[in-house]
Amino acid sequence: MNQNIEYFRRKILEWSKENIYEFTWRTTKNLWHVMVAEIMLQRTRANVVEKEFIKFTKLYPTPESYLNVENPNTFKNLGLPEREKIIEQIAWTLQKKKILNEKAHFLEIKGVGNYTAAAIRSMHLNMRDTIIDGNVIRVYTRFFGFEKSSRLYTDKGFFNFAEQITPKKNFRRYNFALLDFGREVCSPVPKCLNCPLRRKCYYYQRNFL
Ligand code: SF4
Repeated sequence: MNQNIEYFRRKILEWSKENIYEFTWRTTKNLWHVMVAEIMLQRTRANVVEKEFIKFTKLYPTPESYLNVENPNTFKNLGLPEREKIIEQIAWTLQKKKILNEKAHFLEIKGVGNYTAAAIRSMHLNMRDTIIDGNVIRVYTRFFGFEKSSRLYTDKGFFNFAEQITPKKNFRRYNFALLDFGREVCSPVPKCLNCPLRRKCYYYQRNFL
């Protein structure tokens, strides 16, 4: 298992060198915009979010500018307008100039869950954290041969495994790459024949050899 962990980590980081996506929210230093992006990405594809995110950042450069508008309705093109309430909560929190960096700080905001808190910390605040979402579960279960189950979202053993595999250095790039790899290669219909990880992949060995 340990050898496979090292192989997986190395291959994902190698893959990232040529394939990582430069989405607009990945390069911004504005925590307000980063948090909005993560909420927009809940259940909406990244390429759809991109256009709406750019529009949002121009309209609302700060939490105050957002709170000054009576009915912002920024989610009408993304669906799920209830996410507007989460954005409002974030704007109030940031306006109070609260320091947000510990996971617990983010989880206090209604609508921000474990994945979102970990994504913001690791990918935008450069603090090591472990992301687990549907894409990540799919990639790990296929490659390592875990039994697929919705319980994995909250399974302590699985979390410990994901924590162990997340590198101590380069965790930011690793997490970006894991999401991109799950979307582009180990997607719901996986592109195994072109996958650089196939040599040691459990799913590949079971289905193609
Ligand atoms: S070989 Fe297929 S199942 Fe395995 S990691 Fe690659 S794309 Fe995913």
